[in-house]
Formats: sequence, C-alpha cells, structure tokens
Amino acid sequence: MRVLVVEDEALLSRQLATALGEAGYAVDCAEDGEKADFMGQTEGYDAVVLDLGLPKIDGLTLLRRWREQGLSVPVVVLTARGAWHEKVQGIDGGADDYVSKPFRMEELLARLRALIRRSGGQANPLLRSGALSLDPRSARVTKDGVPVKLTGHEFRVLSYLMHQQGRVVSQSELTEHIYAQDFDRDSNTVEVFVARLRRKLGASCIETVRGLGYRMEGSS
Ligand code: CA
Repeated sequence: MRVLVVEDEALLSRQLATALGEAGYAVDCAEDGEKADFMGQTEGYDAVVLDLGLPKIDGLTLLRRWREQGLSVPVVVLTARGAWHEKVQGIDGGADDYVSKPFRMEELLARLRALIRRSGGQANPLLRSGALSLDPRSARVTKDGVPVKLTGHEFRVLSYLMHQQGRVVSQSELTEHIYAQDFDRDSNTVEVFVARLRRKLGASCIETVRGLGYRMEGSS
C-alpha cells in the first residue's frame, strides 16, 4: 500500500512520513499543490493525506480537479482547528474523510486504514485468505494463527493482494503500489517478493494467473 502525503509544513510532513512508514506503507511527500497534482495523476496511490492550505495550488482546488478528472483515490483532508466550513467544503469537494489539526497520529492512521479497506471492498478490519490473516492495525501476518515475519516489501505485496483479493493484479500494478517514488526498483522485482512470500506462507497462497498477474483467494 502506498500513500501520498501533501503537506507544506516540513516537520508535520516528516512526522507523517515516519508514522506511515512504520505502519507499513510506502510513502511519497509533496510540499505544494502543483507537485501533488503531478504525482497524484502519474503514480498509483492507495490513499492521499491532503492539507488544504498549500502553496501554488490549494488543497481544495486540487481535490476538486482530481475528482472532475475521475481520479477516485481515497483522500483524507487535514483541516485547521475549529474551521468547520473547511470540513464541509472538503467533503463536498470529494474528500472521503477529514482530520482536524492538531490530531493524534493514531486517529489519522485508523481513518486511512478504514478508507483503504473500504476502497478494496473489505468490510472486516482483519483480512483473511485461507489460513492467512493480515491485521493492518498491527502490520502483523499469521498463518494458522502462528506469526510470520515479513520484510517491509513482502508485507506491502501481501497487503495489496489481500486488499484486492479475488481480483487479478498485474505486476505493473503491484509494482506501483509497493514502492515509494525515489526507491531503486531494479534489483527488487515483484517476482522475487512473491517467491519469498510463497516460501514463507505456502506455495498455494498466491496464485499466478499466466500472462495477467497474481491473485489471492477471498475468505468466503
Ligand atoms: Ca499548510
């Protein structure tokens, strides 16, 4: 899972990137609306954290533009304290949720998890596929109830496939959703991570659909 943080306050942006990274997300940051617009339209994000007061293009204008263009990525807007009209404008402008500054990081993370889960069509906060379960709240994976240790990239591959379970996910789509923009992808291909996941979790956990990509079975 990959998240774009759009925030011009450097300290808050760093704090968000750190917290999201620790929660298992690949994170990109944009410090103004113009850069965010470009990144949002060219990269594959699972969610966007969008500050409304931004240089170059303000957050609300950017959000409306994205929605007009059919970009459906879940967006949480960050609003100023007490500015109830910003919440209304944000939601009316196409935001899926909002958090008022100052906020607890835990609350923002919970709202993001919920949005990402729902956009993948998952209602249950605990994702299951066969004997596997993945808890986005703790970034933990178990097989038959036994914890399995995964690297950051392995976790992101598994998390993306489990959020999209039942659907075939192409290699290029998977690649888009597990790496931050500045990451050197050459020696870290998706096939390698899938092979490692199969070794750790069982060969049948991820199905290869020839010529199309990968698929994980749904829980029901
Ligand atoms: Ca700002």
